[in-house]
This record gives sequence, C-alpha cells and structure tokens, in this order.
Amino acid sequence: MNNCMEKICPKCGSSSKEKEFIGAFCTDCVKIKIEPPKKIDLYICKDCGLCRLNNKWSPFSLELIENEIKRQTIGNFDNMLLKIDKENQKAELKYIVLIEGNTIQIEKIIELKIHNDLCRDCSRMRGGYYEGIIQVRGENKNKIKRAVDKLKKIIEKDSFITKTVELKEGTDIYVGNKKKAIEIMSDLGHKFVRSRTLSGVKKTGLKKGMKQYRDTFLIRV
Ligand SMILES: [Zn+2]
Ligand SMILES: [Zn+2]
Repeated sequence: MNNCMEKICPKCGSSSKEKEFIGAFCTDCVKIKIEPPKKIDLYICKDCGLCRLNNKWSPFSLELIENEIKRQTIGNFDNMLLKIDKENQKAELKYIVLIEGNTIQIEKIIELKIHNDLCRDCSRMRGGYYEGIIQVRGENKNKIKRAVDKLKKIIEKDSFITKTVELKEGTDIYVGNKKKAIEIMSDLGHKFVRSRTLSGVKKTGLKKGMKQYRDTFLIRV
C-alpha cells in the first residue's frame, strides 16, 4: 500500500522517499520562472557619495538597490536577498519562493555596473555656480562668525555652498540654491533684506529665453 504513495519525478526520476515534492515534480524540478534584470547601472557621485538609480539621486543604501532589482524582476517571489560584490561588479541574488509550504531558493548573479559620476549639486559647485549671496553683517565679529557657521552647517546638509568670502564688513556666503537659503534663514529667525540683479538669460533647455536673477540677502546680526 505504501508504494502507491510514492511519487517519481518525471523529470529527474527522484523518488518522493528521498526528496520533497510539489505536485508531480520534485522541488528541484519545479519550474519557477524568475528573471532578474541582466544589468543594473549604479552611478555614484565621486564628490559626495550620493547614488543615482533611475535618474534619481539619493543616499547610498543596499535597500535602494535591492528595491530596484525587485522592481525589475519578472516572476513571483516572496523575498529577495542581495549581496554585492563591488570588486567584480556583480550582484548575487537569492530569491525565496514559497510553494505549498515548501521554501525554494533560487540564486542568480547579475552585473552591477558602478559608474563614477557627479551629482547636480557637486557639478554646479565645481563649476562655481551660485544662485544667491547671503551677506552677514554686524558690529561684533564673533556674532558674525557664529551666525555664518550655523548657516553653513544647515545649508550644507541638503544643498551646497560655492564659497565663503570674508570681508572687512562681514562675510558673504555664496549659495547654490536660493529657495533653500530662504527657508533656512527663516527657520533660524533671520530677517533679511532681499535685492536681485539680472545675471543672464538662459540659453538652453526648457526655460530658454527666461531671465535669470541672482539674489542678495542682507542679514544683520
Ligand atoms: Zn526532479
Ligand atoms: Zn555629489
């Protein structure tokens, strides 16, 4: 009677006495279609370490790459584990598939091409780009220094400073993003006097022909 229960895998001839079965086939022969992307291109900013996947810059994390590979994988799976082999530019993937109570692991290796790049902020900074100048003025040198240090620290968290110039009358901070600068000055409780000068007309891109302004923000401390 017991013999009737035995299954023989039609593909490899294994017996259900030696191996787990899923339906008519042994777990090794069950066809599970998992197709990872052939290649993932990862761009890393050589100045700040941000990475770009799908044209979006974000801080580097394994999770980010993991999610991108999962998103591009064809087939159903329950989980995926990722190991990066930076030296050989490979990603080792382990897909976990649960079928009828069995856990099946499928391993794949794909190319993970790492490219050197510069993010927009870093390339602008290298090119000396700035949108505005914060002029910090006051009678007390220490007060100016404290205000400048604080502004720089916060601005550099998610934007950039092209340069800082010390002058007799105070300090000028050249900022890459004026919108961010305004936000930060307001957050820190600085009242500023804003003036703008025409810096040029945009020669390329969607906003071609648009006038560009540089803003100066005067802060008294
Ligand atoms: Zn089999
Ligand atoms: Zn960068």
